[in-house]
Amino acid sequence: MNLIDLHTHTTASDGSLSPTELVNLARRLDLKAVAVTDHDTMAGLPEALAAGRALNYEVIPGIEISAEFRPGSMHILGYFIDPADPNLNQRLGELQQARRTRNIQMLTKLNALGLAASMEDIEAAAGGGQIGRPHFARVMTAKGFVAEPNQAFELYLKRGRPAHVEKFRLNPPEALTLIRRAGGLPVLAHPATLRLNGLEALENLVTGLKNQGLAGLEVYYSDHTPQMAADFLALARKFDLLPTGGSDFHGQNKPGVDLGRGRGDLAVPYDFLAGLKQQKGKA
Ligand SMILES: [Zn+2]
Ligand SMILES: [Zn+2]
Repeated sequence: MNLIDLHTHTTASDGSLSPTELVNLARRLDLKAVAVTDHDTMAGLPEALAAGRALNYEVIPGIEISAEFRPGSMHILGYFIDPADPNLNQRLGELQQARRTRNIQMLTKLNALGLAASMEDIEAAAGGGQIGRPHFARVMTAKGFVAEPNQAFELYLKRGRPAHVEKFRLNPPEALTLIRRAGGLPVLAHPATLRLNGLEALENLVTGLKNQGLAGLEVYYSDHTPQMAADFLALARKFDLLPTGGSDFHGQNKPGVDLGRGRGDLAVPYDFLAGLKQQKGKA
């Protein structure tokens, strides 16, 4: 079977491999195609696409947008987006600005709580990539402020704790519309993280999202059990959504999740990509 990976991150967001390194690895592993889906940014796409062209290797331009949702987290993948789309670029720029403001607010709170660290320390922990809470947790641990990164989240950074600052997110319809207008196909990522109560709740959510432009559902995923994968695949068929799959590869920043193979048994068929291409009119 021809295998692919439709969910990966590079140094443009929070992965450890550069876009070029990621494309090279995908080819070396004999995957037939790879999609680059960094969080809230298209900054890695030009390099990834160029690397693909240089190797005559299929690279799909993508993104993963965090959308506002309770109780869990909703991520919306977009495939075949135009990296030059002005609307999407502008909105993503605003998200990046909101992210910077949030980081400053978190650091200010932590400083007031006694953490002796500067934004340079946090930036160094992020190694030039997007800064987020894991980097705060790493610095807090290194400075002896907490015993380990998990404790940083539990005691300070998660919702309801003293250094928590709510993240600004797009609402789901806006995320879907932005991806559609940029020529992309929106796909609901890893449905299990929505933390919905049962499949019926997911069916109701998906019905609404489909009316707002949703095209697909991520059915194969590193953290999906075989039962989840079977349920999500059935749900995709039932609602006429395109099934997709990917590892959510982050390189060394997410140990144990390998490109293409996830936690060892992931196998995403090229057929899934063929379905996306057919719908996009690129078959
Ligand atoms: Zn995600
Ligand atoms: Zn991801």
